[in-house]
Amino acid sequence: MDTPDLKSNFSRTPEQSMESQLARFNTVPEEIRLVVNTHLHVDHCGGNGFLPNARFLAQKSELEYARNPLPVHRPAYDVDLSHMDLELLEGDTEIAEGVRTITTPGHSPGSQAVLIDTDKGLYVIAGDTITHYLSMDVPEGAPFWPGPLYVGLKEYYESLDRLRALGGTILPGHDPLVLRQTAYP
Ligand SMILES: [Zn+2]
Repeated sequence: MDTPDLKSNFSRTPEQSMESQLARFNTVPEEIRLVVNTHLHVDHCGGNGFLPNARFLAQKSELEYARNPLPVHRPAYDVDLSHMDLELLEGDTEIAEGVRTITTPGHSPGSQAVLIDTDKGLYVIAGDTITHYLSMDVPEGAPFWPGPLYVGLKEYYESLDRLRALGGTILPGHDPLVLRQTAYP
């Protein structure tokens, strides 16, 4: 059986282009200097090539797995990593003042969340460790829901607990409701 192609079902309208979306924030692709890839699934790093002057940060363990994933995960890594000049992190890392990453393995081996201190509290870009707000809509005391794609369910649950314990505002990786606001906080 051929490896399923996750990308062929999607297209991008002109309004959805990198240029159009960045123009909403009065910037252009050439001005973007730093990108933190929460992980290297194609839908989270496939746009790196649109940003010619950026540095790209990812966890070393993620790149190692992306190069040789288990068959069930191969479609998610159907992206050419060779042209990406990734800078590899090993573990929790301070990126800049008030911006840091923490590792959240489970969805993928090198998943990481981006934590940003703001004057309205901590904001957490969860990547696919938390894909939707519904993942956090659980009874009092119950763990958050993991998503359907994972490499390790036990460590995934531990990562969910880790994110929850931060007490910040969590932004899920795939929930359209995140776009209700154009900027956070
Ligand atoms: Zn993913």
